[in-house]
Amino acid sequence: METNFVDYVKIYCRSGRGGRGSTHMHRAKYFPKGGPDGGNGGRGGNVVLRGNRNYWTLLHLRYERHVYAGHGENGSQNKSSGKKGEDAIIEVPLGTVAYNAETGDYLCDISEHDQEVVLLKGGRGGLGNFNFCTPTNQAPRYAQPGEPMLEMTVILELKLLADVGLVGFPNAGKSTLVSTLSSAKPKIGNYPFTTLEPTLGIVPYHDNRSFVIADIPGIIEGASQGRGIGLRFLRHIERNSLLLFMIPGDTDDIKKEYEILLNELETFNPELLDKGRVLAITKCDLLDDELIEMLKETLPQGLPIVFISSVTQLGLNELKDVLWKELNSESNKLAAITTTESIVHRAKEVGRLQHELEEQGEDGDFEYIDEDDIEDIEDVEYYDLEDE
Ligand code: GDP
Ligand code: MG
Repeated sequence: METNFVDYVKIYCRSGRGGRGSTHMHRAKYFPKGGPDGGNGGRGGNVVLRGNRNYWTLLHLRYERHVYAGHGENGSQNKSSGKKGEDAIIEVPLGTVAYNAETGDYLCDISEHDQEVVLLKGGRGGLGNFNFCTPTNQAPRYAQPGEPMLEMTVILELKLLADVGLVGFPNAGKSTLVSTLSSAKPKIGNYPFTTLEPTLGIVPYHDNRSFVIADIPGIIEGASQGRGIGLRFLRHIERNSLLLFMIPGDTDDIKKEYEILLNELETFNPELLDKGRVLAITKCDLLDDELIEMLKETLPQGLPIVFISSVTQLGLNELKDVLWKELNSESNKLAAITTTESIVHRAKEVGRLQHELEEQGEDGDFEYIDEDDIEDIEDVEYYDLEDE
């Protein structure tokens, strides 16, 4: 069975079928031929994606493999309309992108709280027989069936898993920083290469604002050579809109180390160099002020640099200020790699890979599920009954 991840889930969705129109004939004691009074069928429920700023990952959907909207109820006597089917709402964090799993087609992007996108429309209800009364046929014994339900397997992916991605060699102090700045509790120490789930931390900032920081183990540890590192992992860092380089203050040649890190990134994906960068000199509690002053002469140019210590909290507020400022600078808002084009491209790749595990759909488009044959009339246009 395939696995769903915190930033990637695949869900089979089905909208509700429309209720069928009723063919009921009214009868009453003194009114034996009362005529048709069959009501309209109710609309089937939609499958809806809704943005929710309280979610940060797709973790809550990890085991959600099927989502079904309710069917519309059939119409009944007294021209009473069937109840409409319940919508199935999938709540997702902001920054979620949806794709059709069969075709890789981009469907939509959820970026606002409460934003709703209908993934699959429920079938419209059929018209009841009373709609079909004509002067020549006062007692139609037919009604319209409801529209069928639709189905689709959707891939939901987090476009921005984290705002700030940490880049540094092992022992630079990345995990410690994440646990100091946020409520996340990453494992301190080196990760084995196979443990590649990134650790996310939500960093509270002023006025209830926050940003997400990701400790991505193994980014540098051979990542560009592809050593044991899967495609999925590579996607994490590509999504970070800002990179925080971390180099310990007691490193022999900080500038050189910075250049090595840059080189690694470039080998891995040159587009990463287009992202905003901040450099944190870590473990500054190990240095005295004099040494820090001397260091300043030798540091790389052209990016914000902050001296920090996760142990003494030195510089952490300044670091948050700098990160926040950079995150909100226009040039950073949409890093090159998160253009729709590249997302679509990536989705196609993912969709294709996923699809190898499955049977090939006809043309990948929505498929109608065949209902039992209904002999009623179908060549009548459907109406959005609620809108009338
Ligand atoms: P990572 O491999 O980059 O995630 O580094 P870790 O956060 O696991 O830290 C590596 C080692 O450096 C650990 O022994 C930490 O206790 C230590 N360390 C982390 N931050 C600081 C700091 O600000 N000051 C000092 N003195 N040690 C630190
Ligand atoms: Mg670590």
